Amino acid sequence: LGPTVTVGEILVEIMATTVGAGFREPQALTGPYPSGAPAIFIDQVARMGGAAGIVASVGNDDFGRLNVDRLRQDGVDVSAIAVSEDWPTGSAFVRYRPDGARDFVFNIARSAAGQVGLTPAAKDLIGRAGHVHVMGTALSIPGAREVILYAIETVRARGGSISFDPNLRKELLTDDGALDSFNQVLGAADLLLPSGEELFTAAGLNDEVAAVASLLESGIGEIVLKRGEQGASFFGRDRQRVDCAAFAVDEIDPTGAGDSFGAAYLTCRRKGMTPDAALLHANAAGARNVTRLGPMEGVSTLVELAAFIAETPRR
Ligand code: ADP
Repeated sequence: LGPTVTVGEILVEIMATTVGAGFREPQALTGPYPSGAPAIFIDQVARMGGAAGIVASVGNDDFGRLNVDRLRQDGVDVSAIAVSEDWPTGSAFVRYRPDGARDFVFNIARSAAGQVGLTPAAKDLIGRAGHVHVMGTALSIPGAREVILYAIETVRARGGSISFDPNLRKELLTDDGALDSFNQVLGAADLLLPSGEELFTAAGLNDEVAAVASLLESGIGEIVLKRGEQGASFFGRDRQRVDCAAFAVDEIDPTGAGDSFGAAYLTCRRKGMTPDAALLHANAAGARNVTRLGPMEGVSTLVELAAFIAETPRR
């Protein structure tokens, strides 16, 4: 029907290299790496051979070129990435706590990423799209919210489908508009890809079975729950459930795993695979991603996923 399209922030990511180190002390950092959850997602779709495009905005600077060159090289349609002369490319700084949790310092609102809007190029790309994937992080950008709601309506009218990864970041939940649009996107989604607590937030219920039942009842067709090093589970409308144990890998950098996972699941489903097969590939994409430093460095082709599945033991 047309490419998978997403909307939102393109960023460079700069990471702490010492677990436990805060950002108030001088330390060695690593980066810049191409990043931004929608960018990682769409790069993974394209690497798997899926038609893919993104509505985004970068600055006319090297951080912007680092991202756009990578996306173009990997096969993403970059025609709807605006290049701003007034704003620099956005950024994210990440640090890791000893328990594995992460803290982010985002520079989105006052960067090119904060300027995402409904340009003629965005309308053109959306007009050709067969699927819209919404990243929760993008709902913090007012212009991106407008594009997302327009895309949902347009793609729905063409008979296309919608997926939603809540991807909640406490650092980005700053205004009511984000919450309103969260509920609108949730109401439109065919596929929901929550991670951990996001399932509870989406359902407003603190029990996994009840939360899944309530969301499926509300009209979502498929829920795929990401469980980090515990793997993932699929829940279907006819009460099907498939659990998939994680692959046994050494985690180097968790950032980007959920984005690669979601992209792999969606792309496999759009290629006609069953939920079981898609879940296995997604599990592999997430696991491969965490073995590389940098959020977009561990994206996989279908051939790489097949080899990884064949040779990697499960937990
Ligand atoms: P998010 O990044 O959205 O919080 P997760 O951390 O749950 O998502 O990771 C997404 C998926 O990536 C998991 O469901 C799992 O399949 C895979 N994954 C993540 N971390 C690991 C790990 N340490 N070992 C193996 N697989 C992992």
